[in-house]
Amino acid sequence: MNYKIAVIPGDGIGPEVIAQTTRVLDEVGKKYGHTFDFTEVLAGGCAIDAVGECLPKETVDICRQSDAVLLGAVGGPKWDDMPGKERPEMALLGLRGQLGLFANLRPAMLFEELADACPLKPELVSGGLDIVVVRELTGGIYFGEKGIKETEKGTAAYDVEEYSEMEVRRIAKVAFDMAMKRGRKVTSVDKANVLESSRLWRRVVTEVSKDYPEVELNHFYVDNAAMQLVRGPKQFDVIVTSNIFGDILSDEASQVTGSIGMLPSASLATGNFGMYEPVHGSAPDIAGQDIANPMATILSAAMMLRYSFGLLEEADAIEAAVKKVLADGHRTADIAKDGEDVIGTARCGDLIVAAIQG
Ligand code: NAD
Repeated sequence: MNYKIAVIPGDGIGPEVIAQTTRVLDEVGKKYGHTFDFTEVLAGGCAIDAVGECLPKETVDICRQSDAVLLGAVGGPKWDDMPGKERPEMALLGLRGQLGLFANLRPAMLFEELADACPLKPELVSGGLDIVVVRELTGGIYFGEKGIKETEKGTAAYDVEEYSEMEVRRIAKVAFDMAMKRGRKVTSVDKANVLESSRLWRRVVTEVSKDYPEVELNHFYVDNAAMQLVRGPKQFDVIVTSNIFGDILSDEASQVTGSIGMLPSASLATGNFGMYEPVHGSAPDIAGQDIANPMATILSAAMMLRYSFGLLEEADAIEAAVKKVLADGHRTADIAKDGEDVIGTARCGDLIVAAIQG
């Protein structure tokens, strides 16, 4: 098969980690008989420098014409003094909105080889961790009505949390479909003891669960979920939650696994379309030095193969190659301990490509 991928290298270490990821995809294509056509487009600070805006229309058009989008990272100190609405990071919000990316998937996987990086006691994570946080991405308080008004108590500001049944239903379906392919357990996180929007959330998630009798559903209040994630993270399989709760819990869940250089993510639209990117940012402090860890982006590409293209074996091959490189004792600087073989970005790509070749 032939797949069209819009590639947004972006800023800082973005181009470096993307370069290794497209190499890995080419190798997978060679081995399994696919071709991946990459079209490189501008977004972020480099787009501001080149054409004066962080998300040119041409970029959105090419993303729309593609089967999936692969993104490095955007932003950096060069553009930090720009007004909020013009900053490189606005490209991310624009892409999410214009591409209809309503579901954010963040796996929190603890590789056995990196168990030492986990800040929790070993007995809490023995045998590894494998959680996916499914966060609603285009609704809720971040997109609700907001403003500033004068009141009897002085100036006040407000942000409205609002969810429609449709928005909850479609994100719940993503979570249940995912659970069917994994551990068949969904934990829905809300604050239904206080918030009306959470009561609607809980009712609709419960309704959707009726179509998935094989999936166990439980409901946690967000405060309890935050506590349980560090107290007993192995009890979770798929966590589904609103935009703001997901923002916080997905960071918490991913930190449990150690290095930011290892964490992939996916943002999905209706159908198979999605945008895939590492959780980390553009890391300007290490850009251009060939020391960034490309594994988060390479693992994001594995998610792309699995969720947008349905290429399960190929996705497994990438993940197995990453594991092999770790098992063989190679580490980029961010995950290395004393005495381990420290490798650079390009060498890490070489080793993963070689592991795919077998
Ligand atoms: P960051 O994730 O870029 O960096 C945090 C720390 O982690 C830094 O010390 C960095 O060197 C390290 N790090 C990150 N990725 C790494 C990798 N792959 N290998 C090794 N080390 C890695 O976060 P930040 O410093 O808060 O932000 C830097 C810039 O990135 C800012 O402009 C921010 O707005 C932007 N940002 C972009 C995205 C995105 O594009 N999705 C996400 C977060 C931050």
